[in-house]
Amino acid sequence: MSDEHVLLLGPPGAGKGTQSKRLAAEFDLEHVTTGDALRANKHVETEHGTPASFMDAGELVPDPVVNEIVKTALEDADGYVLDGYPRNLSQVEYLDSVTDLDYVFYLAVPEDELVNRLTGRRVCPDCGANYHVEFNQPAEEGVCDECGADLVQRDDDTEETVRERLRVYHENTEPVVEHYREKGTLVEVEGEGTPDDVFERIASEVRD
Ligand code: ADP
Ligand code: ADP
Ligand code: ZN
Repeated sequence: MSDEHVLLLGPPGAGKGTQSKRLAAEFDLEHVTTGDALRANKHVETEHGTPASFMDAGELVPDPVVNEIVKTALEDADGYVLDGYPRNLSQVEYLDSVTDLDYVFYLAVPEDELVNRLTGRRVCPDCGANYHVEFNQPAEEGVCDECGADLVQRDDDTEETVRERLRVYHENTEPVVEHYREKGTLVEVEGEGTPDDVFERIASEVRD
């Protein structure tokens, strides 16, 4: 199973990170996520500016920067779950030129629920675990269950930036979803319900 190529699509807050981590653990896959890779290099100066200058405004980081991240990560992976990429049609084209896909899942979640999930999200700066102030609380408020670090709110999880990220999603990433739908490879998964419920919906397709 560990050479499967899985792509998880969905709007910001749909649960891509949450589900990708579980899929990676369950099926022994590499979790490849452009968001985490960019956050780890937020302040690195590139010829296109720092990733932070785009991320904190809710805009997409320029394609050459993210394409390079994905290329390197996929070269090192056998099986993988790709999360947060491709986010526009030119990234789709690039991805097609470097790999093939076995599964494309789209996590469907209504917009109001996305805003609630994102504005209440808390993350661990040390190990990357993610929580929610209401839907997925750690055992001790504000403290990571996995490693004990103090949880933080991402700079781009403020209501204003969340609205802009959703706008950017509709404009640039919905066409990506439509692209895979037209190709006939898209499996749409209901993204509401508990994380366990959603995981079972995805995993049952991969186990087949
Ligand atoms: P994405 O990577 O798609 O932006 P995340 O996996 O980070 O999404 O989830 C966004 C927020 O919603 C997090 O705070 C997470 O704990 C919470 N969350 C994830 N899945 C669910 C779910 N099924 N129901 C309620 N909240 C969820
Ligand atoms: P979410 O799914 O919760 O919106 P991510 O962690 O995937 O968040 O992405 C955070 C930010 O990182 C995005 O708003 C964008 O600025 C940048 N980013 C991540 N992936 C890409 C990508 N494939 N192309 C361009 N920018 C990206
Ligand atoms: Zn932690």
